[in-house]
Amino acid sequence: MIVLITGPSGAGKSTVIGSLMESDPRLAFSVSTTTRPMREGEVHGTDYDFVDDAAFDELVAADAFVEWATVHGHRYGTRRDHLETMAKAGRIPVLDIDVQGGVQVISKFGDELVSVFLFPPSWQALEERLRGRATDADEVIEGRLKTARLEVGFADRYTYWVVNADLEASVTRLQAIVAAEEVRARALAVPPLAP
Ligand code: 5GP
Repeated sequence: MIVLITGPSGAGKSTVIGSLMESDPRLAFSVSTTTRPMREGEVHGTDYDFVDDAAFDELVAADAFVEWATVHGHRYGTRRDHLETMAKAGRIPVLDIDVQGGVQVISKFGDELVSVFLFPPSWQALEERLRGRATDADEVIEGRLKTARLEVGFADRYTYWVVNADLEASVTRLQAIVAAEEVRARALAVPPLAP
C-alpha cells in the first residue's frame, strides 16, 4: 500500500501527516528530492534530499522519479528506489505531494495507492492560516490562495476527502482509511483461508 496525501498549502497537511506517522510505526514518510533551498531547521535526507538543478536533471534523465513537478518555482520529485526500499522493509510509504504529482501517481499505480485530498475547512480559514504565518509577503499569500483554488479543482481524482477542521479528527479519519484499505479483499491478494 502507498498513501498519497495532497492538500493546498495552509490546509495543515504537515501537522496531520506528522501525527499520523507517529501513531503507526509501519508508516514511513517518503522523502522527496527538491531543488528548493533548505529552510532553517530542515535536515537533508529527513525533510528532503536537497539537490541542485544539474543533479535533478540527471535524476530525471535516469528515470529515477515516479513523478515530479514544479511547485512554487522549484522542482520536487518522488524517487522510485526510495519507494521500493520502503516496500521491501514492509513499510507503508506516505507521500506528501502536490496535485500535479498526485495525479501522476494516481494514474500510474492501481489499487495499492490510497489517495486522500485534505481540504481546509473554508477559504476564509485557509487565508487566515496563511496570513498567520507572518513570514510570507502578501503576494506570496495571494499566489498560494490562487494555487489552492486550482488544486481543489483536482480533488475529484482522489478517493478520499478529509476536511481538516480539527487535527485529532483528521488523524482518526486517516487511520480509519488506512485500516479499511488494509482489509480490502483485493489488497490481500491471497485469501486468508482456502475454500
Ligand atoms: P514545501 O516546499 O513547502 O515543503 O512544499 C511545497 C509543495 O511541494 C507542497 O505542496 C508539497 O506537497 C509539494 N511536494 C513535496 N514533495 C513533492 C514531490 O516529491 N512531488 C511533488 N509533485 N510535490 C511535492
